[in-house]
Amino acid sequence: VAALLYVHAGEQAARASFVDEGRARWATGLAAVLEKHGYLDARSCDVAAARAEIAADPPAVVVVGRLSPEEWAPELAETLAAGRFGVLLEQPPPQLHATLGIDAVPPSGHEGRLSACEPSFAEGVRRRSGGTVAKISGPLSRPIAIEPEMRWQATAAPIDEDRARAWNAPGWSAQRWSVAAPTTVLAEWQPVGEAATPAIVRRGRVAALAVELLAYLAQAHSAAPSLGPQHSNWPRAVAAEAMLLELIDSLHATVGATRLRIRPWPHRRTWALNVRHDVDRLPSRRAVAELLGRHRAAGTAATLYVRPRHLSTSHRFVLGAAVRTLLGSHAGEPPRAIGNLPRRPAQGPIRALRAALGRPDIELALHAEGMWAGGAKEVEAFTRAFGRPPVGASSHGGPDCFRFQGAPNVLWAQKMGLDYTELIVHTHTLPHRFVDLRADGTVAVERILCLPHHESFDRPGAVPPNGAAAINSRLDLWRQTGGLLQVMNHPDLNLDELFAFLAELPRDGRIDTTAADAADWWRRSHVGDELELSSERSGATRLWSRRGVEGIVVEALSPDGRERTFELSLAPEQSTTVTVDPWAAA
Ligand SMILES: [Zn+2]
Repeated sequence: VAALLYVHAGEQAARASFVDEGRARWATGLAAVLEKHGYLDARSCDVAAARAEIAADPPAVVVVGRLSPEEWAPELAETLAAGRFGVLLEQPPPQLHATLGIDAVPPSGHEGRLSACEPSFAEGVRRRSGGTVAKISGPLSRPIAIEPEMRWQATAAPIDEDRARAWNAPGWSAQRWSVAAPTTVLAEWQPVGEAATPAIVRRGRVAALAVELLAYLAQAHSAAPSLGPQHSNWPRAVAAEAMLLELIDSLHATVGATRLRIRPWPHRRTWALNVRHDVDRLPSRRAVAELLGRHRAAGTAATLYVRPRHLSTSHRFVLGAAVRTLLGSHAGEPPRAIGNLPRRPAQGPIRALRAALGRPDIELALHAEGMWAGGAKEVEAFTRAFGRPPVGASSHGGPDCFRFQGAPNVLWAQKMGLDYTELIVHTHTLPHRFVDLRADGTVAVERILCLPHHESFDRPGAVPPNGAAAINSRLDLWRQTGGLLQVMNHPDLNLDELFAFLAELPRDGRIDTTAADAADWWRRSHVGDELELSSERSGATRLWSRRGVEGIVVEALSPDGRERTFELSLAPEQSTTVTVDPWAAA
């Protein structure tokens, strides 16, 4: 049983689109977005199975991703018309336009702004995201220095150029609608340089999207392999996500169903803070001890991402890195400064780091350098040095390193068995599983968790020299969205300023956590295979946990807008039932 059924074109259509058009059908990845927001009471199926799924067990809301006219099963339109559930259609087919009061659908440019305009819809979007306008666009890119043999194409990364191109192609389109009363316009679409037209509309229990919002959001939870030596930045998607959630919630209310979701953090906690230390240069033993002592005094939790060149005791490993650094990668490149040469690591600081291994507030993780170019050896060096493998990794930004190149980084971390990694092409505020464009052209939600983009406290050479003001200006966003804020600082810079800043951060509702603990919590509480949530029309809601979870908060939103919460703990493979409002006879 599930309250939300998500219908997509299916794997065969995805493979055909990939082969024939060189494009991905991203919308299948929407599952990662829904579970990220705790909407675990959802299931998906392809269009061929939709009618039987709906008949067997009518959901509260059916969401249908864009289907081409040939892909639309004629009976599906009848089933949707006859049902008593809410319906959200992404670019509905011509045969449904009259029902929806849509008059014309010429295509528009795919980049622009979605603005919530209907007052109560706009208020809901603002409450969730702090704004009412979502920029819908691909990334802006800037060049970065990276040596040719470190580009993913030159390494063992298992991705070919065709797949990389499809991954980079915009996976959504937009139409310019005109609509007739009594259809309500909830949001408008303004393509770059053009006038605004209706984009999210609604008539009764049916809502429709002129912009492929579902595909856009799914693609925004992936990261294409960089085509050139560049770093890419997508616009923040939080307002676009808020529009989708607001639609889903209001459709539940329209048909008299209570909407359930899992709140982001444990009971009484509403946002999370982690201090991310990139250990680019190994501090002295004393400095390590002082850093760890300051975290204990401040009550903060930190993850130290350690560069593997500080860890390996193998002469060959150190020598290889030294030769690469000194000679450069190819003829004609100037040798680097002697000061940057890797040395055999000092054992004192490593021992000081090792001493922190038992502390719940300190995590040691990998600041990876080679990834698909020798990264497995780095994981081994880490494991030897600390007696346990890393749980997660970030990438060091040196030009002789792999740096961040999108999907190759994430897929490498997954292959190494890591639990989490970074995803710095997007600025989400919550962790989520990675949306992958697989080699066969299908889109899948992978196991690995992507942490939100960190906020940099260090800003070497910038004015002001630290990020306190910038982070404070976005603090409301982090708190309002229940985000995992990772404040990044190199532990040999600005320590006094950093701890002064941390001391001023609000403590209300805050959970101080390492990245590993945040990822563990997230997997137990926000991943569909780990926590199951299913509701019935009678109001009985069943929860089941694979490995156990403590203090999850189930939020029930009644059709009248009343919000109640249930706090629960579940033992491994235990299920429990809570009773919320029965669905009204819609
Ligand atoms: Zn670094």
